[in-house]
Amino acid sequence: MKYTWILFDADNTLFDFTHSQRNALRYTFEEFGLEYHDDLFPVFTQLNNKIWQAFDENKITHDEIKTERFKVLFDNLNIQNVNLDDFNTKFISNLIKYSKLIDGTEQFLLSLAGNIKMAIITNGMKEVQRPRFNKCRIKNIFDGVFISGEMGLSKPNKEYFRFVHKKTGNLDKSEYLVVGDNNIADVRGGKKYGFDTCWFNPHLLENDQQEFTDFEIQDINQLKKIIE
Ligand SMILES: [Mg+2]
Repeated sequence: MKYTWILFDADNTLFDFTHSQRNALRYTFEEFGLEYHDDLFPVFTQLNNKIWQAFDENKITHDEIKTERFKVLFDNLNIQNVNLDDFNTKFISNLIKYSKLIDGTEQFLLSLAGNIKMAIITNGMKEVQRPRFNKCRIKNIFDGVFISGEMGLSKPNKEYFRFVHKKTGNLDKSEYLVVGDNNIADVRGGKKYGFDTCWFNPHLLENDQQEFTDFEIQDINQLKKIIE
């Protein structure tokens, strides 16, 4: 194998986070007696992405995200009198409940197990990521799970990658490949630290971080050729 370690981002790289979020939003709305329409989801995603982007830029904390994402959504929809903490708690439990790997991912990771070391590197809340990971059927094939919410460090910051590097044996940086769908947090962050990077780009978006991207794939199975 060309690398000793693959560091995988979790959401929308291994896990179908869009599926979990869509279901979590729908069922949490229903459990709170609020009317849900399918066109609410893109509104939420757009607002939520903006908030996570602010987090990537160190402008907002994990704790603030929890209620802020619903505050802006409800403001936008003119919905009042929802307890944001309660809504967030229910939403998180639904996110865990509806978590699933992207189709084909489980088989692919199982085919690598034992041949290469694998870890998860994720910017996420410990309340979501840890239980979701523990629920995952193939959790035992991972040799490390690095959750920003537990570490107090997050991608794309160098300190995050340095922490992961140390905890994975501090091998030569050329022994590591970062795989993720976020071309800033995963790709630029990983490359700036000194790791090779692979952008997971299933929706064929344009890459404005080309100089930090060593490889690009649309399907997880395409990794095979890169690492062999
Ligand atoms: Mg991701």
